[in-house]
Amino acid sequence: MLENEVLRKAEQLRPRKVGVLGKVDSILEETQLDAPYQPGSSNGVRPTRGCPNATECEACGGIEYLSREFCRCGHYLRGQLEDEYLSWVRRLEHEVEEISTDYLQKQKKLKKGLMLTILLLTPPIAVQVTSPDLLGLFAYLWILAGLVVVCILAFIEARLARPTNDATEFLQNSSLQVYLEHRNLILNSSPDASG
Ligand SMILES: [Zn+2]
Repeated sequence: MLENEVLRKAEQLRPRKVGVLGKVDSILEETQLDAPYQPGSSNGVRPTRGCPNATECEACGGIEYLSREFCRCGHYLRGQLEDEYLSWVRRLEHEVEEISTDYLQKQKKLKKGLMLTILLLTPPIAVQVTSPDLLGLFAYLWILAGLVVVCILAFIEARLARPTNDATEFLQNSSLQVYLEHRNLILNSSPDASG
């Protein structure tokens, strides 16, 4: 009988204990001391999603300040940021490789054109040196046309080389600081950017 009485009182007490815990939870939520991450909400102690100083924790999905070394869940945010940076550098390297390959293919064609122009320039120059009166003005016009073609090819080559040079220079200067300065822009323009 005594055991039944104890059990009955325990059943009566249990809801009161839950009620107290519920109040504690609500106080923690109100004061934001607990501050669990709620997708789509800003609770004042975390940055807003999309801010330049915000990052999303890969472990818990919480939005945290970029300067934090660890997320509130314990995830190593600094390492996550470094992974982001290295992934960006790898993407840049891949882009530079693609641009360079394209440039080298076009440069090969230009070199062939240059070789052909030099070959066509050789006969009139040789004739002009050995027998200056044989071709006369025609030789000068031939050489002049050849030189114009060489200049045009050199100009095209310089224009084609510019994107490769610019991309290579950017890659060489792609420090973590540069990544942080352009991070939001980079994340929004990356192929796997979502939302
Ligand atoms: Zn986290």
